[in-house]
Amino acid sequence: MRETERLIALENKYGASNYASLGVVLKSAKGIYVKDVEGKIYMDFLAGYGALNQGHNHPEIRRAKREYEQEDEDGFSGITLGPRAFHTEALSAFLEKVAQVTGKEKVLPMNTGAEAVETAIKIARKWGYKVKGIPENQAEIITCERNFHGRTTTIVSFSTESQNYENFGPLTPGFKTVPFGDASALEAAITPNTAAFLVEPIQAEAGILLPPKGYLDAAYALCQKNNVLFIADEIQTGFGRTGDLFAFQHETKLKPDILTLGKALSGGLVPVSVAVANADIMDVIKPGDHGSTYGGNPLGAVIAKRAIEVVIEEEMSQNAKVMGEYFREQLREIQKSSSSIKEVRGRGLMTGVEIDGSAHETCERLVDNGILAKDAHGVI
Ligand code: PLP
Repeated sequence: MRETERLIALENKYGASNYASLGVVLKSAKGIYVKDVEGKIYMDFLAGYGALNQGHNHPEIRRAKREYEQEDEDGFSGITLGPRAFHTEALSAFLEKVAQVTGKEKVLPMNTGAEAVETAIKIARKWGYKVKGIPENQAEIITCERNFHGRTTTIVSFSTESQNYENFGPLTPGFKTVPFGDASALEAAITPNTAAFLVEPIQAEAGILLPPKGYLDAAYALCQKNNVLFIADEIQTGFGRTGDLFAFQHETKLKPDILTLGKALSGGLVPVSVAVANADIMDVIKPGDHGSTYGGNPLGAVIAKRAIEVVIEEEMSQNAKVMGEYFREQLREIQKSSSSIKEVRGRGLMTGVEIDGSAHETCERLVDNGILAKDAHGVI
């Protein structure tokens, strides 16, 4: 038995089967390349679902981690977990960096993307009650059809993908969904109890769906007019992926009130996420309202600060723009002689190929050819 089959059997024996795999067992990685346990090298086009914009094992991020871990003369090395009952230099520096690059005043650190979204929901609801004056327990948040914001019970409550929420009820109330890309539907859904509109600037897991031009600006204008917070979930689009540092920067007027960030925020080394907002919104959160044991941990903070810096220093947004255009051009060349490619779309290095047939089987064939990619949800 090859090492691959042995390890997959072991994982299948002891692991819950909550992922459909592509049958590759990875061992090591460098930049865009990964190596499996048989020694075969692949180009990684999935890039940790957008968590590896800096590439695997970026040397500068690893250096920052190593330096932090270095022992002092007493054999002490950088503290890895505070927790937040105490302060750390690493966290302060990270918060300052996130505030600088997002242009927002306040940052609330968590770990996973879903936690950042949960955080944004809690901030928006509390803002709705304390600032907007929504009657108790009446706050509504509007989301988009085919959204993907994570896997917690509250987040799956507003998913429109049945597998995400079926059998996980009772679901959390207080959410409405409107079609993605339809500003008039959003306008019709807003009521005096609407606290926020939550949207992915590009719907990633839905199959790289770009909204019509002007939609996000129009949605933002509606939010401003109706005193509704605009929450941009940039967990997958953030940090250079789409050819700008953040996808909202492609718009002319949009200035999200709350941003959720994760994934590439820490370059694939450890889970770090944040919700970011100005003080007039974030300050509704008081000590004891929200938090996480590992949220804001100093090791994650050191790694994430450097991960942000390398995206900027190495002009990765610009690279994603140039390489993404080249990549889609080449894919469209292939499309000319292929009956199975229906559409090639994307922005920057966030690219989707719509397949006539099974995208999963296409991904299996790509694996055979040394390319790692992953099927998203089927387009309805
Ligand atoms: N939001 C968006 C837009 C995502 O794409 C994802 C994950 O794919 C999440 C939230 C959830 O992030 P995590 O898997 O880290 O909880």
